[in-house]
Amino acid sequence: MALVTPTWMVKAIYNIRPATLKRLGIQAVLTDLDNTLIAWNNPEGTVQLRQWLEEMHVAGITVMVVSNNSNDRVGKALAGMELPYVARALKPLPVGIARAVHRLKLDRRACIMVGDQLLTDMVAGNLAGVRTVLVKPLISTDQWNTLPNRFVEGFIKRHMKRKGTFKYMEDIDD
Ligand SMILES: [Mg+2]
Repeated sequence: MALVTPTWMVKAIYNIRPATLKRLGIQAVLTDLDNTLIAWNNPEGTVQLRQWLEEMHVAGITVMVVSNNSNDRVGKALAGMELPYVARALKPLPVGIARAVHRLKLDRRACIMVGDQLLTDMVAGNLAGVRTVLVKPLISTDQWNTLPNRFVEGFIKRHMKRKGTFKYMEDIDD
């Protein structure tokens, strides 16, 4: 269970405050793309997302997308946001996250991985040795290709709920 267990759980990536990150010595936020940063049916992102990115930018915190999607898809999704990214990250393998950490020239402890899926984002982040943040999927109706994962996730989440360890907080370290 340790591999799927996030370090923190927050309601949305926008809840993560720059001041909290600084207090914890975190300099970079690695993030999943679909349903974490943007809803798959809203590729433009929201005003909230743009504000959050601006706050991170002002605070000097790097936001880097680590996605299993193709270069083409991620590049298009992020057009206009000027975010660095690693595509074809092969989550749940740790290679994409390791590549991102290496590219940023940061210690693993200075990076967090944020995502909406236990079996890809959390496992990859935990294997890569960064701290992990699970967020609620931005929208609950998902793309068909994540359904098998969601099914298994349902079991794990129910297990965590029974243990009382499944609770989304307002910010990390709350
Ligand atoms: Mg996702």
